[in-house]
Amino acid sequence: MIVLVMNSGSSSLKFQLIDMDNGDVMSKGLVERIGMGGDAGFEVKAKGEKIKKDVKADDHKQAVALVIDALTTGDLAVVDDLNNIDAIGHRIVQGGDSFPKAAVVDQRVKDLVREYGAMAPLHNYAALAGIEACEELMPTIPSVCVFDTSYHMTMDPAHYMYAIPYDDYKELKVRRYGAHGTSHKYVAREAAKAMGRPLEELKLITCHLGNGASVSAIKGGKIVDTSMGFTPLEGLVMGTRVGDIDAAAVLFIMKNKGYSIDEMDTYLNKKCGLLGVSGISNDFRDLEDAMQEGNERAKLAYDMFVLQVKKYIGAYYAELDGCDAIVFTAGIGENDDLVRGSICKGLDALGISVDPAKNDGCREFRDISKEGAKAHAFVIPTNEEYAIATETIEAVKEAGLVK
Ligand code: ADP
Repeated sequence: MIVLVMNSGSSSLKFQLIDMDNGDVMSKGLVERIGMGGDAGFEVKAKGEKIKKDVKADDHKQAVALVIDALTTGDLAVVDDLNNIDAIGHRIVQGGDSFPKAAVVDQRVKDLVREYGAMAPLHNYAALAGIEACEELMPTIPSVCVFDTSYHMTMDPAHYMYAIPYDDYKELKVRRYGAHGTSHKYVAREAAKAMGRPLEELKLITCHLGNGASVSAIKGGKIVDTSMGFTPLEGLVMGTRVGDIDAAAVLFIMKNKGYSIDEMDTYLNKKCGLLGVSGISNDFRDLEDAMQEGNERAKLAYDMFVLQVKKYIGAYYAELDGCDAIVFTAGIGENDDLVRGSICKGLDALGISVDPAKNDGCREFRDISKEGAKAHAFVIPTNEEYAIATETIEAVKEAGLVK
């Protein structure tokens, strides 16, 4: 089966066309700067080649039209007929508590994605625009919504509730939803495969460390707890997001700086985290360069990030009553041996020990644990697109929509 995976951001659209019979990525690329006034950027990689050009894309419909054009015409075309594509999988950041699994798009699904857009305005509305463009331009191909939040729906109330008045939770649905669900699910399955053991009997701590970052505790293949909350702002120190902070500090800053709600929202999401503390960058590569030159604030941001991940690992070890494996994934987790080493330093009491010889320079799927350590420590490159395509196929099969 061939699946087109769409990941729409407010001003971007990333896509991958995957042949799920063999896992081959037939074509991939992105449209950026959609609707920003000037030219949009368009990049496509297929058949071992890459095309990059400036194009016009005033909205997501035009961006989808560009993708269709690239897939079916010109030098990098990979399908003769659009109907060779069996399904389209759309990444949706926020599915509230309505979607424990992926859902074939219909009016109800779209209404709910719009409703939950209030909690993820940058993402859900853009995704809806992408879905509607696909419905219009590829009406015969079923679309599926794959939610970042679905995998976290197994959390029990003690884990997902905030200690706010219960009626307010009921009325406003303010609770923890988590994020990066497809990634946590994918690497958990891959870790079980690598260990040659059924996921159902494992206790795992998965660390998705990218610009956005989260840690999850997984028992028997189900999420027990996760560090992201009502929105992807809670938990770890992130590139530009604040992570855990006393709510009273938020109010204090707003009052003293005279910030409006929207200004404070931008502050917490865009001006804090590694960038805010270091004053240099949200990118670990820049921070580590600055640290080597003796920059103390870069070192402080680094230390805060590492400490926060460690705290969650400790908490989740306690919640799971053990840990068979810890997994590092996403931009930082997959590439940054220094950070992985710092996080695992001093965790020997939990059975987590990293072998520097295996960790140093590792940027591939590998068990980096020390010989004899009780827990495995894996570096597993995430593949969210493949995971989305897998769930898309499951949903269309279940709905009897397979050609
Ligand atoms: P997201 O999908 O949340 O935007 P990614 O998973 O792509 O994030 O991760 C991006 C981050 O990964 C960068 O901001 C950078 O901090 C980190 N990163 C990427 N490559 C490296 C590397 N080689 N060494 C250290 N950090 C890296």
